[in-house]
Amino acid sequence: MDIFSPEKRRRIMAAIGSKGTRPEMAVRRYLFALGFRYRLNHGRLPGKPDVVLRKYRTCIFVNGCFWHGHDGCRMAHLPKTNTAFWEGKIARNKLRDADVQRRLAAMGWHCITVWECELAPKRREETLRRLEFTLNRIFLTDRAMTYSPPEEENQMAAEPDNPPFL
Ligand SMILES: [Zn+2]
Repeated sequence: MDIFSPEKRRRIMAAIGSKGTRPEMAVRRYLFALGFRYRLNHGRLPGKPDVVLRKYRTCIFVNGCFWHGHDGCRMAHLPKTNTAFWEGKIARNKLRDADVQRRLAAMGWHCITVWECELAPKRREETLRRLEFTLNRIFLTDRAMTYSPPEEENQMAAEPDNPPFL
């Protein structure tokens, strides 16, 4: 079942384009066509997430397979020369990514990683439909739990307010 009419869905899919689109642009254009609103490269969040959907309390990272070390991916193969150097570099990137996602999760954010290879023209539509499904599920689940994630203001207010000089 689709919440959009076939005509609307057709226009949404057309908005993504089929080639020559940078991976994160494909994600952004798709979300925008669906009516999602977001911020880009949010500098105040760990890791500067590519796309931030505040209403969904979700950060999306669009990761290049090589630089972020996509496990088991053909596009992540290391160069034959200088292999140890690249191994170390990619391993550090992966550790940093994992750390960023842990920190975001601790702040109550959902994290979604979309890999570059999943946005190749052949796989793009399926990937974006899955992303849409995941976001809707996150929204419904969060509401069902009637859980309101701490906002920055509330976090401030939740600080122990013992006068410091007593
Ligand atoms: Zn990949």
